Amino acid sequence: MFKADLHCHSTASDGSETPTAVVERAKALGLTGLALTDHDTTAGFSEAYTRAKELELPFISGVEFSSVMNEEPVHILGYSFDPDHPHLLNLSEEHIKRRIERNEEMVELLRKQQMPIEPEDLYRASTSRIVGRPHIALAMIKRGYVSTIKEAFVKYLGEGKSCYAPGRRFTVQETIDVIHQAGGVAVIAHPHLIKRGRIMRRLLELDFDGIECYYANMSFSQNGIWLRKAKEEELLITGGSDFHGAIKPQIELGAAWTPKESFDELLSLFHENYRSAL
Ligand code: AMP
Ligand code: ZN
Ligand code: FE
Ligand code: FE
Repeated sequence: MFKADLHCHSTASDGSETPTAVVERAKALGLTGLALTDHDTTAGFSEAYTRAKELELPFISGVEFSSVMNEEPVHILGYSFDPDHPHLLNLSEEHIKRRIERNEEMVELLRKQQMPIEPEDLYRASTSRIVGRPHIALAMIKRGYVSTIKEAFVKYLGEGKSCYAPGRRFTVQETIDVIHQAGGVAVIAHPHLIKRGRIMRRLLELDFDGIECYYANMSFSQNGIWLRKAKEEELLITGGSDFHGAIKPQIELGAAWTPKESFDELLSLFHENYRSAL
């Protein structure tokens, strides 16, 4: 059966498995296609691509950019772009700066609530330059403030909770533009998590190329809604698990996947944009 998981994270952002290990896991599970979509970075691309080539696993470039529309966080998946494109690399660098400032704000909020975290603890919790809320949660566990990542989010780090800071915002449109400039396609990630209908309607007026219609734990009815919407708007239908390894132990790689027709299109676009892939 054809199964291309186009949504997963590695140690290049907040996953627990290295890019090599994610590719090896995909191969061992019998997946037939893969994209690594680390938060705001393509730092894991080269390593994953090299291993995928060795294992003859079809692989395309991927990323999951954080963006905001009217205070609503919107995650945008980019695929098949040229991973060396300067605009894309520049946006990733800007996100690293955003995260440094934002982490300082969140650490300050924690300190005010008698939960000090040393910056070294935080940066030791991460293996990459992308340091985010899951790493803050790990540092909080280490200090004994909470016992699980989930608890850290539910009590303090989740959107709107007392120690949450959104940080500098990148707009949806500027993010789509960068992905397009790098030759890629822009896909609305986990659309069922966007709670305000008005925001979704506005997103659909922008030049997105696809919707992530299959996602681990998405209900059957949600699945139908997004498939219909993608067909109506003539958008690409994609899917993926959002695998994070031990950071989200309940989700296995390959728990949701992209249909073959979509993956074939993405693979040929990737080969056009990334000549050294041939
Ligand atoms: P950040 O990019 O720093 O805003 O962190 C976002 C990441 O935090 C997501 O991709 C998830 O991995 C994780 N996350 C978000 N909400 C939760 C939650 N309620 N429980 C556990 N992990 C979460
Ligand atoms: Zn994540
Ligand atoms: Fe996401
Ligand atoms: Fe994700």
